[in-house]
Amino acid sequence: MKTAVFPGSFDPITLGHYDIIERAVPLFDKLIIAIGYNSQKKYMFSLERRMEFIKKSVEHFGNVEVDHFSTLTVDYCKEKNAQFILRGLRNPADFEFEKAIAHTNRTISHKNLETVFLLTSSGKSFISSSIVREIINMGGDYKLLVPKSVYV
Ligand code: ADP
Repeated sequence: MKTAVFPGSFDPITLGHYDIIERAVPLFDKLIIAIGYNSQKKYMFSLERRMEFIKKSVEHFGNVEVDHFSTLTVDYCKEKNAQFILRGLRNPADFEFEKAIAHTNRTISHKNLETVFLLTSSGKSFISSSIVREIINMGGDYKLLVPKSVYV
């Protein structure tokens, strides 16, 4: 069974994340969207709310699970018997950052984990959770950037 983990903060999930999820669904038998929780980090939305936003926006897919973890991503993947990490690439900066992490994860997993990258669909690559948080903080209209579950 091909299982992929899509790790991230998802603070909150955006249409950019959703685009990657939707396109990854047919590629794997199971896709686990996993919020990597770091108790030192300041989040806008609680873990529970972030999980809820994701769950509501992916409930129509049969093979998608939503979970959270606070260990190393490679350890979490091992626990879940996942062979793949899914990540989205928006721009060259994402690529440079992700390249180092992907090599590291492959090395420390003894080559048991491959990272699979999908390029964001055009029109979604400018969206980021940090921009959405800024718009929310300033009272702006962020509804065109996130799945319905985030504002309904
Ligand atoms: P992290 O803190 O791990 O970067 P994020 O929730 O910001 O968590 O991102 C999780 C993943 O989603 C990353 O692979 C990131 O590149 C990807 N991603 C974020 N926004 C977009 C977008 N607009 N299009 C495609 N991928 C995206």
